[in-house]
Amino acid sequence: MAMRILVVEDEPLIASFIEKGLTAEGHAIEVAGDGPAAVGTFIHAPADLVILDVMLPGFDGFEVLSQIRQFDPLVPVIMLTARGDIEDRVRGLDLGATDYVVKPFAFAELAARVRSHLRTVDRASAASRSDEVVVGDLNLDLRRREVQLDGDGVQLSAREFALLEYLMRHPGQVLSRQQILDGVWGISHDPRSNVVDVYIRYLRTKIGDDDAARIETVRGMGYRLVDR
Ligand code: CA
Repeated sequence: MAMRILVVEDEPLIASFIEKGLTAEGHAIEVAGDGPAAVGTFIHAPADLVILDVMLPGFDGFEVLSQIRQFDPLVPVIMLTARGDIEDRVRGLDLGATDYVVKPFAFAELAARVRSHLRTVDRASAASRSDEVVVGDLNLDLRRREVQLDGDGVQLSAREFALLEYLMRHPGQVLSRQQILDGVWGISHDPRSNVVDVYIRYLRTKIGDDDAARIETVRGMGYRLVDR
């Protein structure tokens, strides 16, 4: 099965060697050459697996890893570490790396690790088909953190995504501002704040609901996602 793999490596020769090899195995490869580009690429188009060098310009592989982990706790990340650098390996594993390959490595070894971790992804994605919430033409994929509206991708911030997920898990139900605050922001949030109304407005704009036909305002009560 073809998978999307993000290769984060600043040495062009190594990057292209990995890219060629994995492309030949039938995968779609994206290459990022520094820390910020790696995080940006991953957030824009989450990969099924990440190969991550430690020493990178911008910020290093550990920082890339922790940022990716905030966004996706499950995607397999194989770190490329220097020979003998046990500290790096331990630090990587502590930060949530799935595996590591020691540089210099033979492509066959990396490819075998990639195949092994992609099998896990395959099984997990079969098991998590239920991680999809559908209400009308809105489709929320929790594993990929993606939203589609009538088949088109919608870019949401993490908070907007959480708000939409909350609404979609309670379709047709009137939800008070306090319920939404508790469910999306946590109970520590100031209940007098108008943050719910602000984010409902953001969300309506992003899902083309400026006339509030999908997310209804229920006067004196709160909001309701129309289930149609
Ligand atoms: Ca490097």
